[in-house]
Amino acid sequence: MKIINGKEISQSIRQDLKNKVEELSKKTSRVPGLATILVGEDPASKVYVGSKIKACEQVGIKSFHNPLPATATQEEIIDLIQKLNANPEVDGILLQLPLPNGQTPDKCINSISPDKDVDGLHPFNAGMLTLVKSWKEIVDQKLLVSCTPMGVVYLLKYSNIDIQGKNVVVLGRSNLVGKPVSMLMLANNATVTIAHSRTQNLKEITKKADILIAAIGKAKFVTKDFIKDGATVIDVGINRAADKKLYGDVDFEAVKDMNINITPVPGGVGPMTITMLLHNTILAFERHNNL
Ligand code: NAP
Repeated sequence: MKIINGKEISQSIRQDLKNKVEELSKKTSRVPGLATILVGEDPASKVYVGSKIKACEQVGIKSFHNPLPATATQEEIIDLIQKLNANPEVDGILLQLPLPNGQTPDKCINSISPDKDVDGLHPFNAGMLTLVKSWKEIVDQKLLVSCTPMGVVYLLKYSNIDIQGKNVVVLGRSNLVGKPVSMLMLANNATVTIAHSRTQNLKEITKKADILIAAIGKAKFVTKDFIKDGATVIDVGINRAADKKLYGDVDFEAVKDMNINITPVPGGVGPMTITMLLHNTILAFERHNNL
């Protein structure tokens, strides 16, 4: 087994991003700005937003934190988003999800200006991802793509794992992970199969994968008999178990003697998600400055 170390790759990309911010601030006398919006007091969401703000500091991105009470209405959230859309110091807007009290975020997400949508969740950016024909177009157009899926691509590229022509099986079809990661794999010329809860003969399908991406949210679901010898396994899952530890969607202990490349949980995809948020904020800044 070879571990794909997301923490190390992420640190190396963050160093590059820090250098990029320095270079951009010399050119424009400005630094990129990220506005975070946290509605309510959910402890996990507070930790996530805190990590994002800290990561911004690390690379020199200016952050603007906007806490709102759990009682904030959709109109109040949208009103704040519109102010941030109009603020020239803000290049990216991150609305921390989920919203409290089971509020659906769609209208709020749709009110974020697509060119500040650093989470890549606005229908314009999600739609653009299905229209591009290649990875080169994604890079050249500085497309804002959902952070976790983008992190998966960078993990593979930094680990020198070829995607072109490979059989990629994606477990999960969510708008946040499964669908965008499938589109990114397609743009990188993989042959992509998307599996979900109604897929039949799942193991037969995953066994054909050169690259298996698990994003289903079920701890230790993927066992040895899902995986082909020599495959690369990207475990997106983050599942908190009764013992309070984090587990991926892959049963890491059960597969660790296999001849595979694999991302651990924690320390695999997770650190890349925030790194890609920084990356997207810098892309948004470059676009706003016509760079
Ligand atoms: P989600 O919206 O709940 O989607 C789960 C997907 O998995 C659905 O498409 C579902 O199929 C499919 N699925 C569920 N059970 C299945 C089964 N038994 N066999 C095959 N497919 C099955 O979850 P998500 O937002 O995509 O997140 C997935 C996991 O990634 C979670 O553990 C989440 O915490 C983690 N995550 C991690 C990061 C990170 O930074 N590392 C970021 C985002 C998410 P149906 O569509 O048929 O229901």
